[in-house]
Amino acid sequence: MNVREKYLKNTKRIVVKVGSSTLITEDGSLDLYRIEEIVRQICYLQNQGKSVVLVTSGAIGVGFLKLGLKTKPKDICEKQAAAAIGQGILLNTYEKIFSEHNKIVAQILLTKNDLDIVDNYTNAQNTFTALLKRGVIPIVNENDAVAVEEIKFGDNDTLSALIAKTIHADLLILLSDIDGLYSSDPQSDKDAKLINCVPEITKDIEECSKGSHSNIGTGGMYTKIKAAKIAVSSGISMIIANGSQDGVIEDIVSNKEVGTFFEAKK
Ligand code: GLU
Repeated sequence: MNVREKYLKNTKRIVVKVGSSTLITEDGSLDLYRIEEIVRQICYLQNQGKSVVLVTSGAIGVGFLKLGLKTKPKDICEKQAAAAIGQGILLNTYEKIFSEHNKIVAQILLTKNDLDIVDNYTNAQNTFTALLKRGVIPIVNENDAVAVEEIKFGDNDTLSALIAKTIHADLLILLSDIDGLYSSDPQSDKDAKLINCVPEITKDIEECSKGSHSNIGTGGMYTKIKAAKIAVSSGISMIIANGSQDGVIEDIVSNKEVGTFFEAKK
């Protein structure tokens, strides 16, 4: 039995986070092939009796394209406007594809306040529980339209780790445009090696996460390590893997050694 198998053999609740860089093509449009592939795999997990929550970025990216802008706006209210436009398009796209697989989805938009305040946290937890009990797939994003700096997560990596904690998930999967965590930045160092397994998040591991970034997404490897710390300390294993790879989620749950695996603390 490999390390992953030991941790993943009884996985029942999974949070899958997909970043903008996986969902949006180079010309800025929604990558429908990729979305269909991710939806198909989530349905596969659900058909195996697992509960899945999808955390998806992409609202701002889709929104600014719809407005005909060439680059992501810098101004916070412009970003919020773009998110308000894009979120509807994003959810509509997911809803159509999931319903082709006879699945029901629900939209949940959260801010940091919603998980910081005890009553709100409990309400959100109850909503997730009620949805998952009915086999509905919650689709979550940050509520960008109302989130100002103090109540912003700022990146869906952190949000997805907190959701995994809220719903007592066993596994958090972060899908990005990179194969996993490398020993150094693979864009500038040809000797960079993909790290297969992280038993503990040491200073060295944190060092490896510096300097990697994406053009479209918000978080880089740094926010993913931050998410890993939240997840593993809550007893949830985490994997960073390349969302552009067909069948990647199925590979993960069948213990194939894809991406970087972070062992949950007991
Ligand atoms: N909530 C933002 C969006 O949907 C993205 C946040 C992130 O990239 O993590 O566009």
